[in-house]
Amino acid sequence: MDVPARPLAISPCLAECDWSTTGDVLGGELLFACDGCGSEWVVSQAWTPVDWRGLVPDAVRRERDADRDREHGR
Ligand SMILES: [Zn+2]
Repeated sequence: MDVPARPLAISPCLAECDWSTTGDVLGGELLFACDGCGSEWVVSQAWTPVDWRGLVPDAVRRERDADRDREHGR
């Protein structure tokens, strides 16, 4: 990809964390953002976001699964 990746915004997550896709693509990866604290995430990050309940959001889990499938060449 020719799109240069910029640093992600990473904030200490709050009790209101609520992750969703932004519809934007960063460096060829789907960009997710937290409505609660403004943090951002893409699938190549080593960490995985959780919402205020401590659960990995469905959209994030789907992106993780899709990324794992890509690594396995499927
Ligand atoms: Zn957050």
